Formats: sequence, structure tokens, C-alpha cells
Amino acid sequence: MTTTTNPAHTTTTLEHGTLQFCQSHPTKKVKFYCVNDKEMFCSKCILKHTQQKHEVINCSPKVIDMKRMVQEMITEVECLE
Ligand SMILES: [Zn+2]
Ligand SMILES: [Zn+2]
Repeated sequence: MTTTTNPAHTTTTLEHGTLQFCQSHPTKKVKFYCVNDKEMFCSKCILKHTQQKHEVINCSPKVIDMKRMVQEMITEVECLE
């Protein structure tokens, strides 16, 4: 009886909570996320996206918490309608 070899253990370590730096501005930390481009960027890049009428989300942890709370409230309301 041969024991099957373990499938490749690809542990994807996504560093949640750690701040990333902007691709265009390596010294600037990303604080925003563009829903249209699905990418994160710094406060210097935000204009490029807002000018194109992209949906930009502020990613600072406090705002995310608030957004989540608000979102929950909104979905609750939507369920009632
Ligand atoms: Zn930038
Ligand atoms: Zn964008």
C-alpha cells in the first residue's frame, strides 16, 4: 500500500493588516482602494481615479470598521424593503 504524497502545501500568506506602499509612490502608504481598477493606491493617486469617476474607498482601518457597520445597517434596511 502506497501512501499518497501530500498535495503541494502552498501556504499563501496574505499579510492582512500590514500596510502596503503605493506602486507609483514607494514612499507613500496605500490608503485607498479603487473598485473599478481593483487596486490600492496612496492619497497622491486618488485624483487619477476620481477624475475618471471611479468608485474609491478609503481603506484606513477605522473607516473600514465604520463602513462595515454602515453597510450592515444598509443591508438590514434593504432587506426590510
Ligand atoms: Zn501613489
Ligand atoms: Zn480607478
